[in-house]
Amino acid sequence: MPRLQGQALLRTPSNARRGDVLPHAVASDDRGNVPCVPSKRALIIGISGQDGSLLSELLLSEGYEVIGVVRQSTSTRFENLEPIRARIELHQADVLSEVSLVDVLSASEPHEVYNLASPSFVPMSWKQPVLTAEFAAVGVTALLEAIRRVDDGVRFYQASSSEIFGESREVPQTEETPLAPVTPYGVAKAYGHLITRSYRRQYGLYASSGILYNHESPRRPLDFVTRKISHAAAAISLGLKSEVLLGNLDARRDWGYAGDYVRAMWLVLQQDEADDFVIASGETHSVRELAAAAFAHVGLDWEDHVRVDDTLIRGKAELHDIVGDASKAREQLGWSPRVDFEGLVQLLVDADVERLRSRLEPVETLADI
Ligand code: GDP
Repeated sequence: MPRLQGQALLRTPSNARRGDVLPHAVASDDRGNVPCVPSKRALIIGISGQDGSLLSELLLSEGYEVIGVVRQSTSTRFENLEPIRARIELHQADVLSEVSLVDVLSASEPHEVYNLASPSFVPMSWKQPVLTAEFAAVGVTALLEAIRRVDDGVRFYQASSSEIFGESREVPQTEETPLAPVTPYGVAKAYGHLITRSYRRQYGLYASSGILYNHESPRRPLDFVTRKISHAAAAISLGLKSEVLLGNLDARRDWGYAGDYVRAMWLVLQQDEADDFVIASGETHSVRELAAAAFAHVGLDWEDHVRVDDTLIRGKAELHDIVGDASKAREQLGWSPRVDFEGLVQLLVDADVERLRSRLEPVETLADI
């Protein structure tokens, strides 16, 4: 019987089941032969976005086989996936088609499934409320049903969001805070959050949610305020433009670095029991502070370059007091963010300066958001 060095008995490849946590240590038998130990397989629905691509890189570094699901043709050029394209497998499927999800689950036999498929830019959800509900709400049910049909031992991660707390009466929010979403995105995400819990309770599925607060990286699209500001600060410092239009400068968010947050996603699925976790920095900063830090990093005064455009102010749809208490994640997952607010802003601005310098990215006139 093969034994793990310093660990308990290992399932052999023949009796390994999806859902088993297979250690990455190498086992050998009494004669020192190393058997073929299967690595864990992860299926990432919505792999081509910021979170999907960063999570893929993390899982590859942890020895996983990574399989991704995209809506478009698999031959599309996915910029975020370029550095790892040769190391991952892509399948085309639609979260609104349970049949296509059953097919991809049957073909890939994953141990872990991460559902990151959803539009993520909140104002867009007012323009496309039905589409948002289909993808961010109903799509989760289709995926949970497909998992139940193909293999109920699969571990499932749902990308939940701080938007589910909306007009929260509790500050900061925890896993127990009542949901009070106000945007179509938040309402759809609340459905996704609750249906994940409901399948865990009713069918005993290993289905967990990470309630992630704003998490940013150089892979964020330019319509998010973080990238809008870092890109503008970089472009202005290089003499490529002179000003940027912003909305509510007093709006506050709990911002973190996406690389830290995808690590939390992975840790969520390594727990013995499925559960929900708030993932947040625990502090808020205003858009004004963000602009000041970004422009200061390139030696500029933000007040010389930022103009407020009233059409960008969200009014009643603006969220206030959205800040997370990640104590449970700290205690149970051993998770805490490694990059703080200042570090995040500098990382974003440095990346935009480098991109613009190397002319990888044209300077564009940002559409009003
Ligand atoms: P969200 O929290 O997911 O909606 O992330 P965003 O990056 O889109 O917005 C974060 C905050 O920045 C919100 O409170 C916005 O009202 C505020 N904000 C202020 N000016 C702008 C702007 O020009 N663009 C965007 N996207 N947000 C802005």
